[in-house]
Amino acid sequence: MALIVQKYGGTSVGSIERIQNVAGRIIDTVKQGHAVVVVVSAMGKSTDHLIDMANSISNQPSKRELDMLVSTGEQVSMSLLAMALNEKGYDSISLTGWQAGVETESVHGNARILNIDTQRINRQLDSGRIVIVAGFQGITTADEIATLGRGGSDTTAVALAAVLDASKCEIYTDVTGVFTTDPRVVKDARKLSAISYDEMLEMANLGAGVLHPRSVEFAKNYNVMLEVRSSLEKETGTIVEEVATMEGNLMVRGIAFDDNVTKVTVHNLPDDIVTLSTLFSKLAERQINVDIIIQNTSGNKTTNVSFSIDSGILTETMEVLESHRSLLNFDSITSEGNLSKVSIIGSGMISNPGVAAKMFSSLAGANIKVKMVSTSEIKVSTVVDGSLMISAIECLHEAFQLDARKPVHTAQ
Ligand code: ASP
Ligand code: MG
Repeated sequence: MALIVQKYGGTSVGSIERIQNVAGRIIDTVKQGHAVVVVVSAMGKSTDHLIDMANSISNQPSKRELDMLVSTGEQVSMSLLAMALNEKGYDSISLTGWQAGVETESVHGNARILNIDTQRINRQLDSGRIVIVAGFQGITTADEIATLGRGGSDTTAVALAAVLDASKCEIYTDVTGVFTTDPRVVKDARKLSAISYDEMLEMANLGAGVLHPRSVEFAKNYNVMLEVRSSLEKETGTIVEEVATMEGNLMVRGIAFDDNVTKVTVHNLPDDIVTLSTLFSKLAERQINVDIIIQNTSGNKTTNVSFSIDSGILTETMEVLESHRSLLNFDSITSEGNLSKVSIIGSGMISNPGVAAKMFSSLAGANIKVKMVSTSEIKVSTVVDGSLMISAIECLHEAFQLDARKPVHTAQ
């Protein structure tokens, strides 16, 4: 009997009616002869509400207490789901992270899973039960509850699928799969039948919110076959696997974007490697995540360095730089907000050198100025003015023939 791990996200368990619907889908899977382990998220937006309550008490609630609080969200949905299954005549038990043997590192709010002791889950499966596990939480070696970071239930599901050697991990969500880009932005976005782990990882890291990036890393490392699909529609979803064939030989699989980018420029910094490394070390010490970096030499032994960050950490970034002004010896710092990062992703790029050129010429044709660029083997990211983000996505979606209405070309 093949084991399937299913994960249901917040919207999928957002009401009692939805929980009943999920119970129905689980029962369908059981009737097909599968053993099922289910991972649930908290109902609807309840994690947000819990965090809001904490923030209304304190600007900086203790991370330990915050984990105690937010981990309750998943306990609500898991127990209700188990009750719904039991009520329908299917024997089921819910388990918290620690009951399910999910061991994490000793970090609150963003812990990684270190190990899963599957004994208890296996015993329950052996006795014929459907096992429901709370996503997003585990237990540290000091017996503290730790959570895995927002969206972390995906990672719980994939990790369980890996250790239980499940035949598949199905991620049920409120969209029917992974799309060429966000269908709310480009109405002709097309659902992908398959995508590779690396492409999915880029999409997830670059802002396509369907999967928690760490879950994709896990799936890749343990070769877990993932399917992203809707809990409300019957249609098949998107398969995430090692080698996904490119539909119609297209070089680009999808477009991801992030509309919360700020560019910071440090002017007239001494042009030496020690200063440069000090600058980025000081930012790293404060956990400030720098994305794209550009250095322009401006003669006279000084240089201007620009880098992009999430707009939400601008104040902190400025503070860190200002506090090291004498050490870094720069003239001034400026910042440009309201920027967006638009990225094209596709493993077909490795063997097709013209992709970046095509991206720039398409954007130029639409009068969109590129402010920063970064590339990896399978992606090209550009930073553009925020007001032009949607035009940029539309223009690239069209240029790389991702449009659903277009016949798929094989010639390049
Ligand atoms: N409930 C958690 C969150 O909202 C975890 C998850 O849904 O994956 O982030
Ligand atoms: Mg999610």
